[in-house]
Amino acid sequence: MSADSTQTTLWMTRYPAERSAAPQWMSYHFLREAERCPLAASLKHSWYRTLWERRGYPNRPNIGALIGIIVHFAAELIVQSMVQAEVSSAADPRAMGTLRALGGYSKVLSDAIDDLSEQERDNPRFVQVRPSIVRTLRSKIPQMREMLQQLLATRPWHNSSPSAIRSPEGATSAGTQGRRFPLAVGTHFEVTLRDQGTMWTGRLDIVAVSGDGCTISDLKTASPVIEHQEQMRTYAMLWDGDAELNPMRIPVSALQLVYGSGVVQVAVPVETDLENFKAEMKTRTNAVRNDLSLTVIPARPLKENCRYCQVKLLCDRYWSDVKAFGSNDGVLSNVVLTTEESRSDSTWFAKISSSDSTLDSGRVVLKKFDGGSPFWPEIKPGITVRLTDVLVSLREPDDLPLISLTMLSEALFT
Ligand code: SF4
Repeated sequence: MSADSTQTTLWMTRYPAERSAAPQWMSYHFLREAERCPLAASLKHSWYRTLWERRGYPNRPNIGALIGIIVHFAAELIVQSMVQAEVSSAADPRAMGTLRALGGYSKVLSDAIDDLSEQERDNPRFVQVRPSIVRTLRSKIPQMREMLQQLLATRPWHNSSPSAIRSPEGATSAGTQGRRFPLAVGTHFEVTLRDQGTMWTGRLDIVAVSGDGCTISDLKTASPVIEHQEQMRTYAMLWDGDAELNPMRIPVSALQLVYGSGVVQVAVPVETDLENFKAEMKTRTNAVRNDLSLTVIPARPLKENCRYCQVKLLCDRYWSDVKAFGSNDGVLSNVVLTTEESRSDSTWFAKISSSDSTLDSGRVVLKKFDGGSPFWPEIKPGITVRLTDVLVSLREPDDLPLISLTMLSEALFT
C-alpha cells in the first residue's frame, strides 16, 4: 500500500470506486468494445479514484499500439503542416522544405515519443515499465519512419481555403465543442462530429470539404480489417447528422482508409443504405446500453476477447476458469497462486491453484524479475495472487517448477 491510506496500488485495486454506465454520446470504438465483452467495457471505463485521478482503468502499454499512436500523431502533424504551407503531396518539391522546418521525420517521431511518455506519467501501468518502453520505442524509430513515409506517400492533400485551417476559433480542432460552427471549405483535422438524433459522436482524422461534397479520410497504422469499413460508415452517418458542423447537409463524396500499403475507398452509404445503417446502429446501441445497465454486467469470456483484455486482472469470470479462457498457446502464462514462505530474497515457495499453463496445481518456486517488480516487497505468507505473463519452467523431476516473473508481469492480491 502507498503511504496515503486512501490510495491503493495497482496490485491492491480489485474493484472500481464507481461503476461506469454507457457514455451519453456513443462512439464506434466504445460500441465494438462493449459488444465484444460488456464487462470489459464497464471495468475499463469505470472510476478507480483510489488509484489515480483520471477516469478508467489505466491502459497497459503495448508497443504495437503505441507505435500506431505515435505514427498517427506524426502523420497528422506533418499533413497539417503541409496543408498550411499549401503543399499538395509528398512529391511536391516544397514538401522537403516543410519537413525540414519540422526537423525531419525522426525528430517529429522522437518528439511524439517524449510527448506520449509525458502524458502517461501518472499511469501506474506505464510508469513501472517506462524506461524500457521508451528505449524500445526509440529503437523502433527507423521502422516508424518507414511506416510514416509509406502513409504519407499514398495520399495527396489539398487545401482550397487556407483561412479555414487557421481559424482562430479552431474549426479544425477536436477539442472545441464549446464553439461549434459549420466547417468551411478546406481541409480540417481531428474533427469531432456529433449527431443529436442518434446521440453518436466520433473524431475524424481528416475532413476535406469542397463546394459540393466532403471527403473523409482516416489514417490507419494497423492492417486492414473489415471493422475499419464499418467505422467509416459511422463517420458518414455522423457527417450527415451533425446539424452544427454540416447544416447544409453537404453529402459525403468519398470515404478513404489510408493505410501504409495504399488507400482503400469505402462505398459511401446513401439514402436507403444510410437509413438502414442508422437503424442497425440504433439497435446495437440500445443493446449495449441495456447490457451496461444490468446489475450484473454480462461477461463474454472467449479466448480471443480475453487474450488482450486490458482489465483481465479484475475479471473474476476469467480467473474462475483461467485454463479455458487463458492463452495457453504462447510463451507466457497466467497463474493463481498462494505464497507459503520466503525461500531467498528473490524467491518464494508458493502453491498454484490454477493456471493456463501445463501446471494445474502443486508447489512451485516463484522468482522475482531481475529488473524488479513493484509488488515484490509486498508479498507476505498466505497471500493469494493473480499473476499475468509469467514464465513457467519445468525442471528436473526433483526440483519444483519455477514461475519467473517477467517485465510484463502484473499482480492482483485477492
Ligand atoms: S477477461 Fe475476458 S471475460 Fe473478463 S472482462 Fe476481459 S474480455 Fe471480458
